[in-house]
Amino acid sequence: MLLPDAGCSDYGERPSQRAQPALTYLLTVLPTSIFLGEVSVIQRSIQQTVWRPVEAVRDAVLLLLAPQPCRQCGALVECLNDGVVCRTCWETWRAEHATYLQVCDRCGYRAAAHGPAVVRRDRCEQCARWSLTWVRSGGVYTGALRAAVLALKRSPAVPVPLWTLLQETWQVQTVLHASDLIVPIPLAPLRQRLRGYNQAEILAKALARTTCLPVVTEALVRCRETHPHRAGLDAQARRAALHGAFQVLRPRLIAGRHILLVDDVLTSGATLDTAARSLLAAGAAAVSALTVARAAVRRRASFE
Ligand SMILES: [Zn+2]
Ligand SMILES: [Zn+2]
Repeated sequence: MLLPDAGCSDYGERPSQRAQPALTYLLTVLPTSIFLGEVSVIQRSIQQTVWRPVEAVRDAVLLLLAPQPCRQCGALVECLNDGVVCRTCWETWRAEHATYLQVCDRCGYRAAAHGPAVVRRDRCEQCARWSLTWVRSGGVYTGALRAAVLALKRSPAVPVPLWTLLQETWQVQTVLHASDLIVPIPLAPLRQRLRGYNQAEILAKALARTTCLPVVTEALVRCRETHPHRAGLDAQARRAALHGAFQVLRPRLIAGRHILLVDDVLTSGATLDTAARSLLAAGAAAVSALTVARAAVRRRASFE
């Protein structure tokens, strides 16, 4: 007896699994897959055969009874999985994202390929003084991605395109694969109480489904609210505004480990770098960072 439904694309990608007897699959491959966090193979199989038609009916009913305009273009969002932005806007953003090239190997800064000549470097002016080992982001903070990130501050649901972007970024950015554990950038206690959740923690848990790395939320705390991106603040003033903002409560959890900080947006990098310095001072071996989005750098001339 062979595995169920060899027509499923996931099994199509794994011919060695397809040819295995079901008993062997149940006793060896399935437990191993679950142990390695590859249970998504089974989930996707179920999704394709059962859940997709249910989703199609759900989307048709929602479109009829509670149509939702796209936050980006105003057209109707036809698929609930796309979040607050329609599929066309996601495709537009992806097309735009593809025109950006990575300029800096260390912080992953990307510049528009159609701009002035891009010279790839091992570090840039923005990351030269950072304590972070590597920094990577899913894409430029514009259009659909910006709308989705802003929506995540109002509702803790991660839409499928955002989750896919996290997955793809992790798979491509192999410099991050030396990480031992994930630490989401914490919110100040009052902000966390008002919002009811931390969007960075939501993203960290979504990323953990792909990486199988543990998410540690109790090691790093934010002592107070900070506003490092206020207009008019230069890099030094931003750093001063963040001084003492983070504290490591349980250094035993991070000592000697390579930490991957996760946040929604990288703007100046001051928040991530301050958190990294606190973790390193408490004994972390190295700290890298992954954000879903990265704001465009205003002082582009200094990177070219
Ligand atoms: Zn749209
Ligand atoms: Zn850089």
